[in-house]
Amino acid sequence: MNANRRDFIKFVVAGAVTAGCPVDLSLVAAQTSGAHAGANVDGEDNRICHQVRDGRVFSRPPASTKHDVVIVGGGVSGLTAAYRLQHRDVLLLEKEPQWGGNAYAMEYEGSTYATGSAFLWSDSEAFRFAKEIGLDPLPVNCPDGSIINGEFVPDTWGDGLKKLPYPPITRDSFKKFKNEIMAIDLEKRGSGLYDVPFSSFMKLYAQEIKQWWDAFGLSNWGATSDETAAGLAISEFQDVVDQSRADNRYTWPGGLGAITKKLAEMLQPKYADRMQIGATTVAVTPGKEEVQVTYVLGGDLKTVTAKTVIMATPKFITRRIVEGLPDKQSQAMKQIRYTPYCVVNLIFDKPVFNKGYDTWCPGNSFTDVLVADWVIRKKSGYKQKHNILSCYTPMKEEERGNLLTEGGARKIAANVLRDFQRLTPETNVNPVEVHIYRRGHPMYMATPGLFTQVQPLVRQPMDRVFFANTDSQGPESTTNEAIVAARRAVRQVEARLAGRPAGKETAVLG
Ligand SMILES: Cc1cc2nc3c(=O)[nH]c(=O)nc-3n(C[C@H](O)[C@H](O)[C@H](O)COP(=O)(O)OP(=O)(O)OC[C@H]3O[C@@H](n4cnc5c(N)ncnc54)[C@H](O)[C@@H]3O)c2cc1C
Repeated sequence: MNANRRDFIKFVVAGAVTAGCPVDLSLVAAQTSGAHAGANVDGEDNRICHQVRDGRVFSRPPASTKHDVVIVGGGVSGLTAAYRLQHRDVLLLEKEPQWGGNAYAMEYEGSTYATGSAFLWSDSEAFRFAKEIGLDPLPVNCPDGSIINGEFVPDTWGDGLKKLPYPPITRDSFKKFKNEIMAIDLEKRGSGLYDVPFSSFMKLYAQEIKQWWDAFGLSNWGATSDETAAGLAISEFQDVVDQSRADNRYTWPGGLGAITKKLAEMLQPKYADRMQIGATTVAVTPGKEEVQVTYVLGGDLKTVTAKTVIMATPKFITRRIVEGLPDKQSQAMKQIRYTPYCVVNLIFDKPVFNKGYDTWCPGNSFTDVLVADWVIRKKSGYKQKHNILSCYTPMKEEERGNLLTEGGARKIAANVLRDFQRLTPETNVNPVEVHIYRRGHPMYMATPGLFTQVQPLVRQPMDRVFFANTDSQGPESTTNEAIVAARRAVRQVEARLAGRPAGKETAVLG
């Protein structure tokens, strides 16, 4: 498609700039300095965050209310903690204008699509929790295919291995690699596998294997095989192969935003004004008897006191807000790296691609494409009004700056559309709209040593401040880990409110 034809397609940019604070904070800090630092990042939220970054001490008004627990961050982790603490006096603060964080779905003319988290596994806490809150997870039932050299190959690592459109020598290399990785006994090899990169297992194999796993790793845990802890990738590989025997993934139309939507709907009537969106927390100051939490809401500064606080925010933000963090813990938080990530939703008014739920497209500007309504498309009476295809577009850390301007984000979306249309002759169709949702630091990178050495330090409780969010848990950024982290933080809060110390966090694996 030439540039002129593309000009007629409507591009909608959401996320990051108006909503990204303090997500873009460290980026702006790294790229610019002086009075106009970050001037191209508009919005009230960002101004507040720049001030936090620049070490401004906000004048703290006297505390207006007292709570048992203040939860900072209304992603799935913070919402889960609020759900588990309904019997307490809780205040939940979220800086964005909506709940959900990285598990957030949007709609186009009644059709739901994902802007982040896509699916969960049936053997997970997240699956059980979804059922507990009254959601019925729907089976994916489709092992991942790939589009390679213009051909769609279903079930890449199962039956598809025989059909990969590569020369026989490359196909054999894929088979050998699969056999070697499947033979690894993860339990026997122990946690040491989490300290070496996955690419060290790939040296003797076809480079197409690395290309495939670089796409898979970037999309799922924010890191290419050179930067991925081998233990995580091998465990995922074994799951992927198991999926081709029995797929245990579940979801809803538009992904796991269904969970946060449901939680917000359930909690709002109960919590009323103790659940605040558009509330950016700027300081958490622990004291002997209580913690002071200061936030900005509608341009006004407010301070409240809490007996305990759960920080359900990502750590690069948390470490700037919580005062008195031990130096080692703050340094550990600083070590976590985050990948920038866009999800580009291509909205078609006719069927274009419905061959597989999650299809890998190595060698393109996006890594994989998901069919938004996959799990309901065969329900009796359902008619696909729009074929919405979510192109997952993780980026390199050094490319983060491209997200800062609307023009930069549009360019990324245009590249995704160009690559999608070149995939196969059938995909060369114009969408009616292209929606790009950009995030600066949404997914922590599962780098060697993170799970074994960094995360145990990061989640150490302070006396009255506890750490949730998926990045406290590991080994991978998932909705499940966000829910597990919330469960742990709630346990710690309950212990502290009962007058018991929360105890050190030592568990690594399991
Ligand atoms: C593109 C993409 C695809 C993914 N796919 C999957 C998947 O298929 N399956 C899966 O399980 N996981 C997936 N994940 C990971 C999953 O989305 C996350 O692990 C999970 O949503 C994290 O939830 P959380 O609550 O821990 O953190 P977050 O979602 O980051 O929530 C933190 C919240 O804190 C708020 N906040 C930050 N600073 C402040 C402040 N100062 N004051 C108040 N609030 C603040 C933020 O706005 C945010 O809402 C994906 C992630 C991305 C980005």
